[in-house]
Order: sequence, then structure tokens, then C-alpha cells
Amino acid sequence: MLLHSGLPLLLPGFPRLFRCASTSTATGTVQLQQPLNHRDGARVQPCDGSHSEEVYEPATGRVIGKCLFSGEKEVDLAVQNAQAAFKIWSQKSGMERGNALLKAARAIQEQREEIATMETINNGKSIFEALVDVDISLQCLQYYAGLAGSLAGQHIQLPGGSFAYTRREPLGVCVGIGAWNYPFQIACWKSAPALACGNAMVFKPSPCTPISAVMLSEIYSQAGVPRGLFNVVQGGAATGQFLCQHPSVAKVSFTGSVSTGIKIMAMASHGVKPVTLELGGKSPLLIFSDCILANAVKGALMANFLTQGEVCSNGTRVFVQRGILQAFTEEVVIQTQKIKIGDPLLNDTRMGALINQPHLKKVLSFVTQAKEQGAEVLCGGEAYVPDDPKLSNGFYMSPCVLGNCEDNMTCVKEEIFGPVMSILPFDTEEEALERANSTCFGLAGGVFTRDLQRAHRVAAGLQAGTCFINNYNVIPVELPFGGYKMSGFGRENGTAAIAYYSQLKTVYVEMGNVESVF
Ligand code: NAD
Repeated sequence: MLLHSGLPLLLPGFPRLFRCASTSTATGTVQLQQPLNHRDGARVQPCDGSHSEEVYEPATGRVIGKCLFSGEKEVDLAVQNAQAAFKIWSQKSGMERGNALLKAARAIQEQREEIATMETINNGKSIFEALVDVDISLQCLQYYAGLAGSLAGQHIQLPGGSFAYTRREPLGVCVGIGAWNYPFQIACWKSAPALACGNAMVFKPSPCTPISAVMLSEIYSQAGVPRGLFNVVQGGAATGQFLCQHPSVAKVSFTGSVSTGIKIMAMASHGVKPVTLELGGKSPLLIFSDCILANAVKGALMANFLTQGEVCSNGTRVFVQRGILQAFTEEVVIQTQKIKIGDPLLNDTRMGALINQPHLKKVLSFVTQAKEQGAEVLCGGEAYVPDDPKLSNGFYMSPCVLGNCEDNMTCVKEEIFGPVMSILPFDTEEEALERANSTCFGLAGGVFTRDLQRAHRVAAGLQAGTCFINNYNVIPVELPFGGYKMSGFGRENGTAAIAYYSQLKTVYVEMGNVESVF
């Protein structure tokens, strides 16, 4: 076990944020400590806003505290704090910014288990996965810390000794708005490149998962960045709107659903603000008869059941070539039934609880509808009650594999965002590609085959921002991540993200006399 015998009353490093009873496991014991906004370098109570929502621990169904939604005034104060910090931060060298990011990465490393534990308690995902999320997050800070010192423009020689150069300048105050499935990682993926480029940020996490962004904000403060450089305002749609519409905000980077993304884009258009949209998906995974079957089965599980299936890039439409349909299906069902569901803070748990009761109901209703439309439930798809009595009100379901699926079924067309895999037989490569691409989404896709040429042909043919060959959902921070079609635009991670958090200024330098045309 990871943390568990005698967890201290207060999780180290965050004494004001969390209170935790001393038991053999932290599940069912943590209470949130207010306040949860963090601006100007300190945790503050929002100065306005009348609404609040309960925050849950999905593993137990327990309310662990309240998320107080910030009003327009609070949002304005956070933006002002960020503007003040931007003046200082944007004058620093890349190396100086990189050093601060490295310090923050080291602090994340030191607090790795506390952060992962809180992520698990608030999100419901297994501690095994939450630790990986934290590792990827700190790698993101390290990566952009490394890039910060080499951000540069160009020098261009022009006729007569004149020349020009470009300056890569920050945008100003950027807004980050996050979803609830990867709360800490999303906050890092947005803030690390933004800060490396010299911007300040106001971040709004999902009200379902308000906690870990506050931990990140405290870490940035501890790392010595100017007060107000990274601020957290809590809230829902209205708070998000105040942020997007604020005249001093230069850019919005959003991760969430397509429907909210459309609203964000419309709001940003009024201020002609650039947006990055990381939206939903319904990605295809193509499994050819010549694949290594064991790898394809493992890949299909990776493509469907991480974080209880609540992953935007999931390959939920699993196209299987008819020759191996039976063998693949039998094995995938066997392996799916072996997934250990339960207390997400236990080291050997591989599937925890879904984010909340309404979402669990929605996912289960997709399974019901799939059955009504003719799909066959090959395993799972039911609410699950773990043996441990303290988990009896948690939001669990058994991972589901659907057979007999057809392209026009709702379970095949719509993003379910839960542990539901749909298996679809196919005959030819051409047919599979055409069916894979007949969707409005384009976030990711995958192919399992031993045929090298086919692998690359399929990757080239898939209309998606990320394609996996003989694996799935491996997302290193060095590589750009983002969508085609209605899955969004702009890229996070890799050197590509720099373009979305900076702007180029061209400076022309005349070395002779002005030759006027007048
Ligand atoms: P959501 O769109 O409901 O909410 C996302 C965020 O937007 C939350 O912080 C929410 O409070 C805020 N918000 C809601 N309405 C708003 C408005 N009108 N103006 C401004 N902000 C507003 O999404 P969710 O349910 O939190 O997350 C699930 C969705 O996110 C899924 O569709 C999933 O595919 C997508 N997602 C995409 C990626 C990616 O990288 N492409 C990653 C994770 C999740």
C-alpha cells in the first residue's frame, strides 16, 4: 500500500487545505478547508458570488466540502493581480522563468503522493493513475522550463544592409478553463507553456474538482514566481463567462465539451481573442487480423478504461477485422472482467469511481439505450457496489464491452465518457478508414497491425490530431496534443504549444536613408 498506515491528521505541505483523520486509508476521511480561491499569492475567500456547489468524493459518494463560485468582481481582481504580475514576469529572461518552473517541478516531485491522493479523493480515479498524472504534469513543467531559455525570434538580412528581426512576445493575461477528468494535469499543461512564454494566468478548474489547481497555485508561489502570476478562481459557467469576456484577458485555453467550446469561441470572438479548444472525441481504433492479438487487447483496454473511461482521446469505436473478431472479443471480455474495481486509494485498484451520480446515470443510460438499439452487452455495464461498506454510496460501474454494434447506434456515435467499449467488425482497410472518419470528431485514432506500410497508411488516412500505432493513449509531453474537426484546434504540449501562448513582433531596421516614393 502506498500511504496508508497512519496517514497524518494533516496532509504534509497543505495544512490549511485538508483535514484528514488518522485511519488505515484516507478514503472517506478528508474534508476540504476553505478558502479555495488563490490569487495574489494567497488563498482568499471570493469577494462576491452567491452560488456554491457541493464537492464530492466519488469513491464514497460523500460531500467533502463546498465550492464557492466567484462573481464578476472576484474575477476582475484575479485578472488585475495577473496583470500586475505579468509586468514583472514578462521582463524576466527565459532562463529566469525556466528556473522558477524547475523549482515548481521539484516541489511537485516532493509532494507527489499528496497531490495524487487528493486527485484520487476528488476525482475517483485510481491512485495508480493519479501518480502517473502527477509525473506527467511535472514533466510538463520540466519540459517548458528547458524550452524557456531558447525561445527566440529570427534575424533576416535585407537589401542595403538593412535587416529585420522578430521578437517572440507573450500575450498577457491568459485564461485556462479545465475539465474534471485530469484536473492537475490540465492545470499544468496550460500554465507551464503559458508561464514559460512570459504570460500570467487565471485558471478556473471544474467545480467538480476544485482542489488540485489550488495545490499547483501554492506550489508556484513557493517557487517564487511574482504574486498573482498564476491565480485560481473557482466557479462554474458564469465564472467562466466573466473570465472569457474580461477585456484585459488576452487568450483563452479551454478543455471541456464541444458545446461549451462553441460558447467560449463565440465569447472570445467579441474581443478577437485567440482560443485553444481541447474538446471531446469518439475516436476509432482499427485492429487488423495480422496484429499481435495480446497487444491489441491490451491496447483496447488502454483505449477505453483509463480514468473510468472518462478520457477525451479514448478509442471507443473498436473496429476489428472479421478474421479475428471472435478471438479478440473473447479475450477482451476476459481481460475487462479482470479489472479490479474498488477503493481508488488502494495500490492494486485499476478502476475507481465515476465523477458523480448524474454522470454515472448518464453512462448507464447509454448502455440501456445500446441494448434497446440491438447491441449485446458482453460484460459489465452495471452499477457496481464494492464489498467495503464505506464505498457503498460511491459512483462505481463495471467496465462494459458491447458487441453487435453498428455505426448508426447512439453508443457508436456519441461521446459516452465512461467505461463503455463498442466493437464493430470490418472487412477491408478502405472500408474501416471510411467508417472511422465518418464522425464530426477528430481527436485521436489508433491502429494495430504488423504490416508496416499499412500502419503508416492508416495513420495518414485517419482524420485525427493524434494517431497511435500498436499502442494507445500514450501521451508524452514532448509531443503536440489536440484535435481535428469538432474536437478543437490549437495544440498543447511539445514545441507546438509555444505558438499558442506567444505572438511575433516584426521589427524592421533601416540602415540607409529613407527612399520616399513621394
Ligand atoms: P464542460 O464543457 O461541461 O466543462 C468544462 C469547463 O468549462 C468547466 O470548468 C466548466 O465549469 C466550464 N464552463 C461550462 N460552461 C461554461 C461557459 N458557458 N463559459 C465558460 N466556461 C464554462 O466539460 P466537462 O464535463 O468538465 O468535461 C468533459 C468534456 O471535456 C468531455 O467532452 C471531454 O471529452 C472533454 N475533454 C477534452 C480534453 C481534450 O484535451 N481534448 C481533455 C479532457 C476533457
